[in-house]
Amino acid sequence: MAEKSKGQEMLEKLSYKKKNVFEESSAERVKSIYDYSVGYMKYLDDAKTEREATEASILLAKKAGFTEYKLGEKICVGDKKYLNHHGKSLILFRVGENDVEKDGIRILASHIDSPRIDLKQVPMYEDSGMGFLKTHYYGGVKKYQWTTIPLALHGVMVKADGEVVNVKIGEDDTDPVFYINDLLPHLAQRQSTEPLGTAISGETLNILIGGLPYDDPDVSEKIKLTALSLLNDKYGVTEEDFLSAELSLVPAFKARDIGFDRALIGAYGHDDRVCSYPAITALFDEADTKRTVMVVLADKEEIGSVGITGMQSDILVDVIREISSSLGKNEIVVRSKSKCLSADVTAAYDPNFPDVYEKRNSAIISSGTCMSKFMGARGKSSTNDASAEFVGFVRRLFTENGIVWQTAELGKVDQGGGGTVATYIANHNIETVDLGVPVISMHAPYEVVSKADVYMTYEAFRAFIK
Ligand code: MN
Ligand code: MN
Repeated sequence: MAEKSKGQEMLEKLSYKKKNVFEESSAERVKSIYDYSVGYMKYLDDAKTEREATEASILLAKKAGFTEYKLGEKICVGDKKYLNHHGKSLILFRVGENDVEKDGIRILASHIDSPRIDLKQVPMYEDSGMGFLKTHYYGGVKKYQWTTIPLALHGVMVKADGEVVNVKIGEDDTDPVFYINDLLPHLAQRQSTEPLGTAISGETLNILIGGLPYDDPDVSEKIKLTALSLLNDKYGVTEEDFLSAELSLVPAFKARDIGFDRALIGAYGHDDRVCSYPAITALFDEADTKRTVMVVLADKEEIGSVGITGMQSDILVDVIREISSSLGKNEIVVRSKSKCLSADVTAAYDPNFPDVYEKRNSAIISSGTCMSKFMGARGKSSTNDASAEFVGFVRRLFTENGIVWQTAELGKVDQGGGGTVATYIANHNIETVDLGVPVISMHAPYEVVSKADVYMTYEAFRAFIK
């Protein structure tokens, strides 16, 4: 190798540049990157809603030796527990031998709800030979993306007697799927000139559910009756049971490798299973168990972290209080010593749409797990904005553990910005910073991430909790 010039040496020593995870990795680590994605892709297919993610995560937790915890139970050093919060969010914790008044709790907090199309409470009707369901979309969606793709129906219906019926249609290869109509190009001349945001309105996101009239000349709404009778046969439900149901349409696609080299993963719901899965597997896999660690899989992030299962609920602090009091420790001190990675996705820089990004401060795909010191919008409004000291602490951890990572802001100043659960955790006097996986086409029915970034996020979480 030719000797480096003084300038080259100085450049290396003094300047900062993002790195590509694959280029930085040994052949062994590249193999681990690809191997790790297999489990993640299975999790994606098993866990398309927060209820399914809760269930799938509990299954993995049980395999890792975790047992169910109920509020009020005594907690001891060595415990590995999970709290199933209304079947829609999950708090897992492992109690270590370190003094939690000195060491605090290391918290990984992500969310398991994703943008989708929810049913209204009185959804079913028929018109012009077709049966439909009325919907109200959930979270930030570009409505036009949800038309003309196969959709699966997931959720629960609570019958008059309180029985809860699980509904899942469209995931098995032999299942029918559902559909949202769009105009043919021939008749879309006016629609094509409308802005993307209004060309498809919320009230046109109606789900096509059938077309076979019930075989009886004496009844009206025959197609609707066929659908109701099939639902009654399969689930024992009536139209009134939709009143007490939570039913969602999600893309019927499976997670798949993307690209000739299979470096990327396409799937519905990376946001935020791509942080949830690394968080739980880091907890299960990390053999260094001296610290007390908590993983929160929250619901309702996509609509403001509201409700009993959202991150604004008291449940997080309730569990910290229970751990503290069980161990005879002061909860206020424990929170003040705790540290949290708010684990959520960020927007990956997309060279097809360079105008909305400021490239130096954007997440570059395959450049590692991505820290956002602040998110916010218009003057950093409503962002957590972690301190330089805390960012410095995490930086040292990552350097010590060979983590390839980067920093980013979501989009250009005054164009981007977004909320995460970070602010709600920081409200409890817990130091918090956002960290997660860069995503291409975030909130689309099929999103894309890099296997390298998923794996680096997993390794980053392991470094943080050990
Ligand atoms: Mn998210
Ligand atoms: Mn989101």
